[in-house]
Amino acid sequence: MELFGQMMHIPMLLSSIIQAAARHYGDVEIVSRRVEGDVHRYDYEDCHVRCKQVAQALINRGIGSGDRVGTLAWNGYRHMELYYGVSGIGAVCHTINPRLFPEQIAYIINHGEDRYVFFDATFAALIEQIAPQCPNVEKWVMLCSEDALPRDFPVPLESYEVLIEERAPDFVWPSFDEERAAILCYTSGTTGDPKGVLYSHRSLTLMAYASALPDALCLSTTDTLAPVVPMFHVNAWGMPFSAPLVGAKLVFPGAKLDGESLSTLFAEEGVTMSAGVPTVWLAFVEHLARTGKRCSTLQRVIVGGAACPPSLAASFKNFGIRSVHGWGMTETSPLGTVCTPSRGCSKKTPQERLLTESKQGRAVPGIELKTVGPDGAELPRDGRTSGELLVRGHWVLERYFGASASALSGGWFATGDVATIDENGFLHITDRSKDVIKSGGEWISSIALENIAISHPEIEAVACIGRAHLKWDERPILIAVLKEGSALSVEDVLEFFAGKVAKWWLPDDVKFVKSLPLTPTGKINKLALRQQFGHVEEQTIAQTCNPSGARQVTN
Ligand code: AMP
Repeated sequence: MELFGQMMHIPMLLSSIIQAAARHYGDVEIVSRRVEGDVHRYDYEDCHVRCKQVAQALINRGIGSGDRVGTLAWNGYRHMELYYGVSGIGAVCHTINPRLFPEQIAYIINHGEDRYVFFDATFAALIEQIAPQCPNVEKWVMLCSEDALPRDFPVPLESYEVLIEERAPDFVWPSFDEERAAILCYTSGTTGDPKGVLYSHRSLTLMAYASALPDALCLSTTDTLAPVVPMFHVNAWGMPFSAPLVGAKLVFPGAKLDGESLSTLFAEEGVTMSAGVPTVWLAFVEHLARTGKRCSTLQRVIVGGAACPPSLAASFKNFGIRSVHGWGMTETSPLGTVCTPSRGCSKKTPQERLLTESKQGRAVPGIELKTVGPDGAELPRDGRTSGELLVRGHWVLERYFGASASALSGGWFATGDVATIDENGFLHITDRSKDVIKSGGEWISSIALENIAISHPEIEAVACIGRAHLKWDERPILIAVLKEGSALSVEDVLEFFAGKVAKWWLPDDVKFVKSLPLTPTGKINKLALRQQFGHVEEQTIAQTCNPSGARQVTN
């Protein structure tokens, strides 16, 4: 006979996180750099009061269980209030990425069936453009006071401050099933329509607990966290939940994410920990190097969303900042792995330690990983054999929003990443399966070549893509942005690879550009680069078709 435990069952709801923060860390600050240009500060107690006002206002207007409420907003206190106020009444906070194309934004507002949409003043022109395509949105609410509402706006608008002005001292957070939806976030849709991932109260609460662990993000009330990763994409890696869970001070950077703005904010607010994608951090360390500025309080930064080049980790180290590599995706809420040292790592050589630190790390408790070969069979955890990465866990998607079929195969989610896992469970992403370069039947890791190129002191940004090749299928080429004043030639760059990779891994060519295209989530847009540079070079066609060099093929 099965014997069940006899413990209380209290649903894990996000509202309980902000309520506890108000009780236990009530005077801990939340600081926001606002789009209005000033800095706003209040504490967890004030935040909780206003979350309840949001909740009450929405209930009064008939927003209820399961209804979707959209947000188009930077990281800030009002966005945080919506996270809790909307989800706390059983409605769903649908965070929308404003960097998507307007048609995609309209598509996901309609697909998500958002009844209300809240937006920062920065996005007023965007709202004007998309509102006619979103006839089912009942109310557009600008995150501002009434006097800041634009005059003669073609779409009826309401002010957030007016909407939530009524006090709600008697409001009590409702209790409901922890499996109910809390937040909806769409993938960036670089290949096809964006797909919705619907996080539950349970999944987000469990991720918040796991992320705070010492060998994960190691969060405490003594920390001051500055989430640079946006709240409009994958919950700012859960920090709006994990920070109040432990009572950490929160510093929201708003819209300005350049090196100067971030370093000033970090210094002013005593930020101890931050998190962001490599493109943001490359600009940040470049700024520190150029200006001689330092962020003396900053102890560690989480680098994720794309591979952290070892040279970036080394730059951080030079500034006395520890970089911590993490991996995740929209479908994993996103926290999947974090690279923190293993027991006994002090006995390793500096070289071995560097190698481990460059990996994406171990699965946080609650997440399981494995790699499989083309036949679906599990591959050895030897740190060498690479295959497709599969994941499962408490905060991993089961099916996309609105889909009738599960997204899983045999209970696992296929990530589309190619990786190795070593004996100690350290994950190493060698590529995205669509980015890996297939040359003469062998695979070349675009990340490995990028890591070498970006360590060149005169290269500011770089991407490696496969260029179609008549003989080899694909060959690697680099698209590079040079630092100001650099006169590097193609040959100089290629020479830099000598002795660092096998000969057949050497890139065939280097194209110099002024800037690299970015995806809506701030990563390098390799799809756009492949479209521009990935076709067979005319010269190669000519040589292959007519070794004498006379061009016979036209395109
Ligand atoms: P997204 O769902 O837009 O957040 O993208 C998720 C994808 O970003 C993953 O499947 C990986 O391809 C990539 N990614 C995230 N973190 C890392 C990392 N630390 N190293 C390499 N790739 C990463």
